[in-house]
Amino acid sequence: MEKVLVLDVDETLLNIEPLSFLKIFKENYQSYEGKLMFDKYYLSPRPNLTEFIEKAKKNFKLIAFSVVSREITIKKLKAIGILDSFFKIYGKEDLENGKKSIKKIANDLNIPQNSIVAVDDIPEHFLEHDKVIKIEPWFIGDSKKDSSLLNIFKNLEVESKVFS
Ligand SMILES: [Mg+2]
Repeated sequence: MEKVLVLDVDETLLNIEPLSFLKIFKENYQSYEGKLMFDKYYLSPRPNLTEFIEKAKKNFKLIAFSVVSREITIKKLKAIGILDSFFKIYGKEDLENGKKSIKKIANDLNIPQNSIVAVDDIPEHFLEHDKVIKIEPWFIGDSKKDSSLLNIFKNLEVESKVFS
């Protein structure tokens, strides 16, 4: 069965903040890997992002789902070089009553809901929040050795036994 992993974007895979904020509250922001966006934002990938995506790709089809617009989400993922790893991008336009929905994705892809796993730092953004794997949010200024993304695989191994 085709397995799908739905990943939240902000504070799950990356953090983007205005320079005006960072210069005052996170003075060491430039010591974080990242890049400028739209001239006044700094975007930084969460630690271990590349390794996580490479590993996840081997077992899942990847979807990004953000509460921000699809267009902006695509720009962010492109900026950190992982856009091509996703086969579909969902954004604000795809919310149902203001929420992300696993059921909607299942309907769109014509697959059963239980072949979809979602990860979000705010599971409550999903209608099916009790089925979402919660990850701690990550912000510029937090640990550069954060391993939360890689730790997700411990949950996913349990999940994939359910699938097989
Ligand atoms: Mg988030």
